[in-house]
Amino acid sequence: MPVSRDIVVVGAGIVGCAIAYEMARRGASVEVVDMRAAGMGATQAAAGILAPFIEAGEDSPLLDFAVRSLDLFDRLLPDVARDSGQPILYRRTGTLEVAADDRRMSRFALTARRLEQRGVRATLLDAAGVRGEEPYLSQGVVGGLLVPSQGFVSAPQLLSALAAAARRHGAQLVERGRVRRVRADGPGLVVETERGSLSGDRVVIAAGSWSGGIEVDGAEQPAPVRPVRGQLLHLEWVGAPLKRVTWSERCYLVPWDNGTLLVGATSEDAGFDERATAAGVHDLLQAACEIVPHGWTAGFAGARVGLRPASGDELPIIGPSRALPNLLYATGHYRSGILLAPLTAQLVADLVLENRADPLLAQTAPERFGLL
Ligand SMILES: Cc1cc2nc3c(=O)[nH]c(=O)nc-3n(C[C@H](O)[C@H](O)[C@H](O)COP(=O)(O)OP(=O)(O)OC[C@H]3O[C@@H](n4cnc5c(N)ncnc54)[C@H](O)[C@@H]3O)c2cc1C
Repeated sequence: MPVSRDIVVVGAGIVGCAIAYEMARRGASVEVVDMRAAGMGATQAAAGILAPFIEAGEDSPLLDFAVRSLDLFDRLLPDVARDSGQPILYRRTGTLEVAADDRRMSRFALTARRLEQRGVRATLLDAAGVRGEEPYLSQGVVGGLLVPSQGFVSAPQLLSALAAAARRHGAQLVERGRVRRVRADGPGLVVETERGSLSGDRVVIAAGSWSGGIEVDGAEQPAPVRPVRGQLLHLEWVGAPLKRVTWSERCYLVPWDNGTLLVGATSEDAGFDERATAAGVHDLLQAACEIVPHGWTAGFAGARVGLRPASGDELPIIGPSRALPNLLYATGHYRSGILLAPLTAQLVADLVLENRADPLLAQTAPERFGLL
Protein backbone atom coordinates (compact mmCIF):
# COMPACT_ATOMS: atom_id res chain seq x y z
CA MET A 1 0.00 0.00 0.00
CA PRO A 2 1.37 3.44 -0.85
CA VAL A 3 1.89 5.83 2.08
CA SER A 4 -0.69 8.64 1.94
CA ARG A 5 0.15 12.31 2.57
CA ASP A 6 -2.08 15.30 1.81
CA ILE A 7 0.55 16.91 -0.39
CA VAL A 8 3.53 15.32 -2.12
CA VAL A 9 6.20 17.69 -3.43
CA VAL A 10 8.58 16.23 -6.02
CA GLY A 11 11.98 17.90 -5.66
CA ALA A 12 13.81 19.17 -2.57
CA GLY A 13 15.51 22.17 -4.15
CA ILE A 14 14.89 25.71 -2.97
CA VAL A 15 11.46 25.77 -4.64
CA GLY A 16 10.26 22.43 -3.25
CA CYS A 17 11.59 23.16 0.26
CA ALA A 18 10.08 26.66 0.33
CA ILE A 19 6.72 25.21 -0.70
CA ALA A 20 6.99 22.42 1.89
CA TYR A 21 7.78 24.91 4.65
CA GLU A 22 4.96 27.27 3.70
CA MET A 23 2.37 24.48 3.47
CA ALA A 24 3.53 22.66 6.59
CA ARG A 25 3.47 25.79 8.71
CA ARG A 26 -0.09 26.40 7.54
CA GLY A 27 -0.98 22.95 8.87
CA ALA A 28 -0.82 20.71 5.80
CA SER A 29 0.66 17.23 5.85
CA VAL A 30 3.57 17.32 3.40
CA GLU A 31 6.07 14.82 2.04
CA VAL A 32 8.95 15.93 -0.17
CA VAL A 33 10.58 13.27 -2.34
CA ASP A 34 13.92 13.62 -4.06
CA MET A 35 16.27 11.31 -5.91
CA ARG A 36 19.23 12.70 -3.97
CA ALA A 37 19.93 14.76 -0.85
CA ALA A 38 18.01 18.03 -0.45
CA GLY A 39 19.47 21.00 -2.28
CA MET A 40 21.89 19.09 -4.51
CA GLY A 41 20.33 20.30 -7.77
CA ALA A 42 20.79 23.84 -9.09
CA THR A 43 20.30 25.28 -5.60
CA GLN A 44 23.71 24.22 -4.21
CA ALA A 45 25.44 26.22 -6.95
CA ALA A 46 23.40 29.42 -6.73
CA ALA A 47 25.04 32.72 -5.89
CA GLY A 48 21.92 33.78 -3.99
CA ILE A 49 21.80 37.27 -5.46
CA LEU A 50 18.54 39.07 -4.75
CA ALA A 51 18.47 41.71 -7.47
CA PRO A 52 15.12 42.06 -9.24
CA PHE A 53 16.15 45.25 -11.01
CA ILE A 54 19.14 43.54 -12.62
CA GLU A 55 17.82 40.02 -13.16
CA ALA A 56 14.30 40.88 -14.29
CA GLY A 57 15.08 44.16 -16.06
CA GLU A 58 12.68 47.05 -16.64
CA ASP A 59 10.53 45.49 -19.36
CA SER A 60 10.49 41.94 -18.07
CA PRO A 61 7.11 40.42 -17.20
CA LEU A 62 8.96 38.95 -14.21
CA LEU A 63 9.74 42.27 -12.56
CA ASP A 64 6.60 42.50 -10.37
CA PHE A 65 7.01 38.87 -9.33
CA ALA A 66 10.65 39.44 -8.42
CA VAL A 67 9.98 42.68 -6.51
CA ARG A 68 7.15 41.12 -4.50
CA SER A 69 9.28 38.08 -3.71
CA LEU A 70 12.21 40.20 -2.53
CA ASP A 71 9.80 42.05 -0.23
CA LEU A 72 8.99 38.76 1.51
CA PHE A 73 12.58 38.01 2.55
CA ASP A 74 12.69 40.41 5.49
CA ARG A 75 9.73 38.69 7.15
CA LEU A 76 10.36 35.12 6.00
CA LEU A 77 14.00 34.70 6.97
CA PRO A 78 13.62 35.43 10.71
CA ASP A 79 10.75 32.87 10.77
CA VAL A 80 12.84 30.24 8.99
CA ALA A 81 15.89 30.91 11.21
CA ARG A 82 13.73 30.63 14.34
CA ASP A 83 11.88 27.48 13.23
CA SER A 84 15.07 25.76 12.07
CA GLY A 85 17.45 27.04 14.73
CA GLN A 86 19.97 27.64 11.92
CA PRO A 87 21.75 30.85 10.88
CA ILE A 88 21.14 32.26 7.38
CA LEU A 89 23.59 34.71 5.83
CA TYR A 90 21.34 37.44 4.35
CA ARG A 91 22.53 40.92 3.44
CA ARG A 92 20.72 43.83 1.81
CA THR A 93 23.95 45.77 1.32
CA GLY A 94 23.11 46.76 -2.25
CA THR A 95 24.43 45.93 -5.69
CA LEU A 96 26.99 47.86 -7.69
CA GLU A 97 26.99 47.49 -11.47
CA VAL A 98 30.19 48.78 -12.98
CA ALA A 99 30.86 50.23 -16.42
CA ALA A 100 33.99 50.07 -18.55
CA ASP A 101 32.77 52.63 -21.10
CA ASP A 102 30.44 55.60 -21.65
CA ARG A 103 27.91 53.55 -23.58
CA ARG A 104 27.20 51.49 -20.46
CA MET A 105 27.16 54.62 -18.30
CA SER A 106 24.41 56.07 -20.54
CA ARG A 107 22.40 52.89 -19.99
CA PHE A 108 22.90 53.20 -16.22
CA ALA A 109 21.65 56.82 -16.36
CA LEU A 110 18.47 55.65 -18.07
CA THR A 111 18.00 52.79 -15.60
CA ALA A 112 18.58 55.15 -12.65
CA ARG A 113 15.85 57.51 -13.93
CA ARG A 114 13.39 54.63 -14.40
CA LEU A 115 14.13 53.21 -10.97
CA GLU A 116 13.64 56.62 -9.33
CA GLN A 117 10.25 56.81 -11.09
CA ARG A 118 9.32 53.50 -9.42
CA GLY A 119 10.43 54.93 -6.07
CA VAL A 120 13.58 52.76 -5.97
CA ARG A 121 16.76 54.53 -4.83
CA ALA A 122 19.58 54.32 -7.37
CA THR A 123 22.81 56.32 -7.38
CA LEU A 124 25.02 56.97 -10.41
CA LEU A 125 28.71 57.07 -9.51
CA ASP A 126 31.60 58.47 -11.54
CA ALA A 127 35.08 56.90 -11.61
CA ALA A 128 36.14 58.48 -8.30
CA GLY A 129 32.80 57.69 -6.65
CA VAL A 130 32.85 54.06 -7.66
CA ARG A 131 36.41 53.58 -6.38
CA GLY A 132 35.44 55.36 -3.16
CA GLU A 133 32.84 52.61 -2.71
CA GLU A 134 35.11 49.72 -3.76
CA PRO A 135 38.83 50.59 -3.67
CA TYR A 136 39.83 47.31 -5.35
CA LEU A 137 38.11 48.16 -8.64
CA SER A 138 40.43 48.33 -11.65
CA GLN A 139 41.39 51.54 -13.44
CA GLY A 140 39.31 50.35 -16.40
CA VAL A 141 36.09 51.01 -14.46
CA VAL A 142 34.68 54.44 -15.40
CA GLY A 143 31.61 54.50 -13.17
CA GLY A 144 28.75 52.53 -11.72
CA LEU A 145 25.15 52.23 -10.63
CA LEU A 146 24.45 51.54 -6.97
CA VAL A 147 21.06 50.12 -5.93
CA PRO A 148 21.10 49.94 -2.12
CA SER A 149 17.94 47.83 -1.61
CA GLN A 150 19.22 44.71 -3.39
CA GLY A 151 21.45 42.05 -1.80
CA PHE A 152 22.15 38.37 -1.39
CA VAL A 153 21.46 35.31 0.71
CA SER A 154 23.50 32.15 1.19
CA ALA A 155 21.49 29.69 -0.90
CA PRO A 156 22.94 26.57 0.81
CA GLN A 157 22.14 27.98 4.27
CA LEU A 158 18.64 29.05 3.23
CA LEU A 159 17.99 25.61 1.74
CA SER A 160 19.21 23.80 4.83
CA ALA A 161 17.16 26.04 7.13
CA LEU A 162 14.00 25.72 5.02
CA ALA A 163 14.32 21.93 5.04
CA ALA A 164 14.85 21.84 8.82
CA ALA A 165 12.01 24.32 9.45
CA ALA A 166 9.65 22.33 7.21
CA ARG A 167 10.53 19.18 9.19
CA ARG A 168 9.92 21.02 12.44
CA HIS A 169 6.36 21.70 11.20
CA GLY A 170 5.89 18.00 10.46
CA ALA A 171 6.95 17.75 6.81
CA GLN A 172 8.88 14.64 5.80
CA LEU A 173 11.79 14.86 3.39
CA VAL A 174 12.80 11.54 1.91
CA GLU A 175 15.33 10.31 -0.61
CA ARG A 176 13.38 7.77 -2.59
CA GLY A 177 14.89 7.35 -6.00
CA ARG A 178 13.74 9.05 -9.16
CA VAL A 179 10.06 9.88 -9.58
CA ARG A 180 8.99 8.41 -12.91
CA ARG A 181 5.29 9.07 -13.21
CA VAL A 182 2.28 10.80 -11.64
CA ARG A 183 -1.13 9.28 -12.26
CA ALA A 184 -4.71 9.53 -11.03
CA ASP A 185 -6.02 7.15 -8.42
CA GLY A 186 -9.67 7.86 -7.61
CA PRO A 187 -9.88 11.46 -6.38
CA GLY A 188 -6.17 11.52 -5.46
CA LEU A 189 -2.84 10.97 -7.18
CA VAL A 190 -0.13 8.36 -7.10
CA VAL A 191 3.55 9.24 -7.45
CA GLU A 192 5.54 6.30 -8.81
CA THR A 193 9.20 6.29 -7.86
CA GLU A 194 12.04 3.84 -8.52
CA ARG A 195 11.48 2.65 -4.95
CA GLY A 196 7.73 2.29 -4.56
CA SER A 197 4.77 4.64 -4.68
CA LEU A 198 3.31 7.46 -2.65
CA SER A 199 -0.18 8.82 -2.75
CA GLY A 200 -1.42 12.30 -2.04
CA ASP A 201 -4.46 14.52 -2.48
CA ARG A 202 -2.28 16.99 -4.37
CA VAL A 203 1.14 16.73 -6.00
CA VAL A 204 3.51 19.58 -6.83
CA ILE A 205 6.25 19.01 -9.41
CA ALA A 206 9.21 21.15 -8.32
CA ALA A 207 11.92 19.10 -9.99
CA GLY A 208 13.87 21.93 -11.62
CA SER A 209 15.71 21.00 -14.83
CA TRP A 210 14.54 17.38 -14.57
CA SER A 211 10.80 18.25 -14.49
CA GLY A 212 10.32 17.15 -18.10
CA GLY A 213 11.50 13.63 -17.23
CA ILE A 214 8.41 12.93 -15.13
CA GLU A 215 5.57 11.31 -17.03
CA VAL A 216 2.20 12.92 -16.27
CA ASP A 217 -0.92 10.97 -17.22
CA GLY A 218 -3.03 12.85 -19.74
CA ALA A 219 -0.33 15.40 -20.62
CA GLU A 220 0.36 15.91 -24.32
CA GLN A 221 4.04 16.62 -23.69
CA PRO A 222 6.57 16.74 -20.85
CA ALA A 223 7.08 20.01 -18.96
CA PRO A 224 9.15 22.17 -21.35
CA VAL A 225 12.17 22.79 -19.11
CA ARG A 226 15.77 22.56 -20.33
CA PRO A 227 18.99 22.67 -18.29
CA VAL A 228 21.30 25.68 -18.66
CA ARG A 229 24.61 24.92 -16.99
CA GLY A 230 26.10 27.52 -14.67
CA GLN A 231 29.56 27.34 -13.12
CA LEU A 232 30.43 29.39 -10.06
CA LEU A 233 33.78 29.81 -8.28
CA HIS A 234 34.47 30.13 -4.57
CA LEU A 235 37.63 32.13 -3.86
CA GLU A 236 39.32 32.83 -0.53
CA TRP A 237 39.64 36.59 -0.64
CA VAL A 238 42.71 38.19 0.94
CA GLY A 239 42.31 41.63 2.56
CA ALA A 240 39.28 43.81 3.28
CA PRO A 241 36.18 42.26 1.71
CA LEU A 242 34.13 43.90 -1.02
CA LYS A 243 31.15 45.74 0.46
CA ARG A 244 28.45 44.45 -1.84
CA VAL A 245 27.49 42.41 -4.88
CA THR A 246 29.43 43.79 -7.84
CA TRP A 247 28.55 43.19 -11.50
CA SER A 248 30.35 43.76 -14.75
CA GLU A 249 29.11 42.75 -18.18
CA ARG A 250 31.05 39.48 -17.88
CA CYS A 251 30.59 38.33 -14.27
CA TYR A 252 29.37 39.09 -10.78
CA LEU A 253 31.09 38.93 -7.39
CA VAL A 254 29.38 38.14 -4.09
CA PRO A 255 31.31 38.73 -0.83
CA TRP A 256 30.31 36.33 1.94
CA ASP A 257 31.03 37.27 5.57
CA ASN A 258 33.50 34.39 6.02
CA GLY A 259 35.93 35.87 3.48
CA THR A 260 34.70 33.74 0.58
CA LEU A 261 34.13 35.56 -2.70
CA LEU A 262 31.74 33.94 -5.16
CA VAL A 263 32.39 34.54 -8.84
CA GLY A 264 29.64 33.70 -11.29
CA ALA A 265 28.57 32.49 -13.61
CA THR A 266 28.83 30.74 -16.94
CA SER A 267 25.74 30.08 -19.02
CA GLU A 268 26.08 26.99 -21.18
CA ASP A 269 24.01 24.54 -23.14
CA ALA A 270 25.62 21.28 -21.95
CA GLY A 271 22.63 19.00 -21.45
CA PHE A 272 22.59 17.32 -18.03
CA ASP A 273 26.39 17.41 -17.63
CA GLU A 274 27.06 18.81 -14.14
CA ARG A 275 30.87 18.94 -14.38
CA ALA A 276 33.00 22.04 -13.94
CA THR A 277 35.30 22.68 -16.89
CA ALA A 278 38.78 24.18 -17.24
CA ALA A 279 37.35 26.74 -19.69
CA GLY A 280 34.63 27.77 -17.23
CA VAL A 281 37.10 28.28 -14.37
CA HIS A 282 39.53 30.13 -16.64
CA ASP A 283 36.90 32.47 -18.11
CA LEU A 284 35.39 33.33 -14.73
CA LEU A 285 38.79 34.04 -13.15
CA GLN A 286 39.70 36.30 -16.03
CA ALA A 287 36.38 38.15 -15.95
CA ALA A 288 36.61 38.66 -12.17
CA CYS A 289 40.19 39.89 -12.19
CA GLU A 290 39.44 42.26 -15.05
CA ILE A 291 37.35 44.35 -12.60
CA VAL A 292 39.23 43.48 -9.37
CA PRO A 293 42.86 42.60 -10.28
CA HIS A 294 43.51 41.91 -6.58
CA GLY A 295 41.50 38.72 -7.15
CA TRP A 296 44.63 37.04 -8.57
CA THR A 297 45.96 36.85 -4.97
CA ALA A 298 42.89 34.91 -3.78
CA GLY A 299 42.97 31.25 -2.82
CA PHE A 300 40.96 28.84 -4.94
CA ALA A 301 38.34 27.10 -2.80
CA GLY A 302 36.46 25.32 -5.56
CA ALA A 303 33.96 25.44 -8.38
CA ARG A 304 30.27 24.59 -8.21
CA VAL A 305 28.01 23.66 -11.04
CA GLY A 306 24.25 23.75 -11.33
CA LEU A 307 21.65 23.28 -14.04
CA ARG A 308 19.32 26.27 -14.19
CA PRO A 309 15.81 25.19 -15.14
CA ALA A 310 14.77 27.28 -18.16
CA SER A 311 11.27 27.02 -19.59
CA GLY A 312 10.43 27.66 -23.23
CA ASP A 313 9.88 31.38 -22.64
CA GLU A 314 12.30 31.59 -19.68
CA LEU A 315 9.48 32.45 -17.25
CA PRO A 316 8.57 30.11 -14.39
CA ILE A 317 5.83 27.50 -14.80
CA ILE A 318 3.66 27.78 -11.70
CA GLY A 319 0.06 26.67 -11.43
CA PRO A 320 -2.33 23.77 -11.90
CA SER A 321 -1.98 21.12 -14.56
CA ARG A 322 -4.87 21.02 -17.03
CA ALA A 323 -4.05 17.42 -17.88
CA LEU A 324 -4.23 15.90 -14.42
CA PRO A 325 -6.53 17.39 -11.76
CA ASN A 326 -4.81 18.08 -8.39
CA LEU A 327 -1.36 18.20 -9.95
CA LEU A 328 0.55 21.51 -9.91
CA TYR A 329 3.83 22.68 -11.36
CA ALA A 330 6.36 24.97 -9.68
CA THR A 331 9.36 24.84 -11.95
CA GLY A 332 11.30 26.73 -14.64
CA HIS A 333 12.72 29.39 -12.31
CA TYR A 334 15.83 29.63 -14.48
CA ARG A 335 18.28 32.28 -13.20
CA SER A 336 16.17 33.49 -10.26
CA GLY A 337 14.88 30.55 -8.26
CA ILE A 338 16.38 31.74 -4.98
CA LEU A 339 14.88 35.20 -5.39
CA LEU A 340 11.50 33.86 -6.54
CA ALA A 341 11.14 30.97 -4.07
CA PRO A 342 9.34 32.86 -1.26
CA LEU A 343 6.58 34.22 -3.48
CA THR A 344 6.32 30.94 -5.41
CA ALA A 345 5.72 29.13 -2.12
CA GLN A 346 3.12 31.65 -1.02
CA LEU A 347 1.22 31.51 -4.31
CA VAL A 348 1.22 27.71 -4.42
CA ALA A 349 0.10 27.44 -0.78
CA ASP A 350 -2.66 30.03 -1.36
CA LEU A 351 -3.87 28.08 -4.36
CA VAL A 352 -3.72 24.61 -2.83
CA LEU A 353 -4.81 25.34 0.71
CA GLU A 354 -7.10 28.36 0.26
CA ASN A 355 -8.18 28.09 -3.37
CA ARG A 356 -6.93 31.66 -3.94
CA ALA A 357 -5.32 32.45 -7.31
CA ASP A 358 -3.08 35.49 -7.38
CA PRO A 359 -3.33 37.49 -10.66
CA LEU A 360 0.43 36.93 -11.18
CA LEU A 361 -0.33 33.26 -11.88
CA ALA A 362 -1.84 34.26 -15.24
CA GLN A 363 1.74 34.87 -16.50
CA THR A 364 3.10 31.60 -15.17
CA ALA A 365 0.25 29.24 -16.12
CA PRO A 366 1.46 25.85 -17.40
CA GLU A 367 -1.26 25.89 -20.08
CA ARG A 368 0.63 28.50 -22.10
CA PHE A 369 2.65 25.52 -23.33
CA GLY A 370 -0.40 23.35 -24.14
CA LEU A 371 -1.92 20.45 -22.24
CA LEU A 372 0.60 19.79 -19.45
C1 LIG B 1 25.73 29.06 -11.11
C2 LIG B 1 24.34 29.47 -10.72
C3 LIG B 1 24.11 30.68 -10.10
C4 LIG B 1 22.82 31.07 -9.74
N1 LIG B 1 22.65 32.24 -9.09
C5 LIG B 1 21.39 32.61 -8.69
C6 LIG B 1 21.22 33.81 -7.97
O1 LIG B 1 22.18 34.52 -7.70
N2 LIG B 1 19.95 34.15 -7.58
C7 LIG B 1 18.87 33.38 -7.88
O2 LIG B 1 17.76 33.74 -7.51
N3 LIG B 1 19.01 32.22 -8.57
C8 LIG B 1 20.25 31.84 -8.99
N4 LIG B 1 20.43 30.68 -9.70
C9 LIG B 1 19.24 29.92 -10.12
C10 LIG B 1 18.75 29.01 -9.02
O3 LIG B 1 19.82 28.24 -8.52
C11 LIG B 1 17.66 28.09 -9.57
O4 LIG B 1 16.66 28.85 -10.23
C12 LIG B 1 17.02 27.33 -8.41
O5 LIG B 1 17.98 26.68 -7.63
C13 LIG B 1 16.01 26.31 -8.94
O6 LIG B 1 15.50 25.65 -7.83
P1 LIG B 1 14.61 24.36 -7.98
O7 LIG B 1 14.22 23.94 -6.63
O8 LIG B 1 13.53 24.62 -8.99
O9 LIG B 1 15.57 23.30 -8.70
P2 LIG B 1 16.77 22.43 -8.11
O10 LIG B 1 17.53 23.15 -7.08
O11 LIG B 1 17.52 21.92 -9.28
O12 LIG B 1 16.02 21.25 -7.38
C14 LIG B 1 15.30 20.27 -8.08
C15 LIG B 1 15.33 19.01 -7.23
O13 LIG B 1 14.46 18.06 -7.83
C16 LIG B 1 15.08 16.79 -7.74
N5 LIG B 1 14.52 15.97 -8.79
C17 LIG B 1 14.52 16.26 -10.10
N6 LIG B 1 13.87 15.31 -10.80
C18 LIG B 1 13.47 14.39 -9.90
C19 LIG B 1 12.76 13.17 -10.02
N7 LIG B 1 12.32 12.71 -11.19
N8 LIG B 1 12.54 12.44 -8.89
C20 LIG B 1 12.98 12.90 -7.68
N9 LIG B 1 13.64 14.06 -7.52
C21 LIG B 1 13.87 14.81 -8.62
C22 LIG B 1 16.57 17.07 -7.92
O14 LIG B 1 17.36 16.04 -7.39
C23 LIG B 1 16.72 18.38 -7.17
O15 LIG B 1 17.07 18.19 -5.81
C24 LIG B 1 21.71 30.24 -10.05
C25 LIG B 1 21.93 29.02 -10.66
C26 LIG B 1 23.23 28.62 -11.00
C27 LIG B 1 23.44 27.28 -11.64
